Amino acid sequence: MMRILVTNDDGIEAAGLHALAEALRPLGEVVIVAPDRQQSAVGHALTVSEPLRIVPFRSNGQFVGYAVNGTPADCVKLAVTTLLPWRPDVVASGINHGRNTAVNILYSGTVSAATEGTLLGIPSVAFSLDAYEAEADFRAAAVIARAIVERLPFLRLPTGTLLNVNIPALPLEQICGVRITHQGRSLWRDWYERRRDPWGREYFWLAGEYVLADGDPEADDVALTQGYVSITPIRYALTDTASVEQLRQQFGELLPISDVSHAK
Ligand code: MN
Repeated sequence: MMRILVTNDDGIEAAGLHALAEALRPLGEVVIVAPDRQQSAVGHALTVSEPLRIVPFRSNGQFVGYAVNGTPADCVKLAVTTLLPWRPDVVASGINHGRNTAVNILYSGTVSAATEGTLLGIPSVAFSLDAYEAEADFRAAAVIARAIVERLPFLRLPTGTLLNVNIPALPLEQICGVRITHQGRSLWRDWYERRRDPWGREYFWLAGEYVLADGDPEADDVALTQGYVSITPIRYALTDTASVEQLRQQFGELLPISDVSHAK
């Protein structure tokens, strides 16, 4: 029997969260600890200058977990270190309403919740559905999510690696299969719409269009668009090891602190 922490960034009322929790319930004990409101694109933010408060949350009269006035990363950290009476075997985040591929992984609260689970040493996975209409159908994605969570503790992923899963918005029988992918190079072409409020004061609202980078079938976006479930193993360690030696040489003569790297 597994113990599973479920969270998201779309907030505790989100349909995708409850579709995920319901799908995982047959695997063992499931508790939701999720933000009390929409927290998409907050990335890995933590709340440090305000108190966190938790409120029990019921679905159809049944206790299913807690709403927290914080971010997705807050929820996972609070749940694992303090709130839950047991340590989860898996942290499952989602199912996000909208894809989390390419550069979006950086901004995603959904992925950051799973990253936080990984930081705490727990096998973790983020799920996102490639749907944007208000009444998205999470049923097929929930079936796939369950199959992945069931296997997650046995995959022996290296320390620091989590899974970022994107699922096409298709009925189960129309999904082509699973592709293990890498983070693609698609980008947002962003701008801010300059508007005026009723008092004539300017305000700005982020807008943009998503530019699909290339046709590499092993890129997350491409696999998803071609009808495949995209599973990308990702890591939060950001050092560009290839540049370390080059920079030591380039800055070595400029800065006395370069001696530090040779001090040991
Ligand atoms: Mn979201």
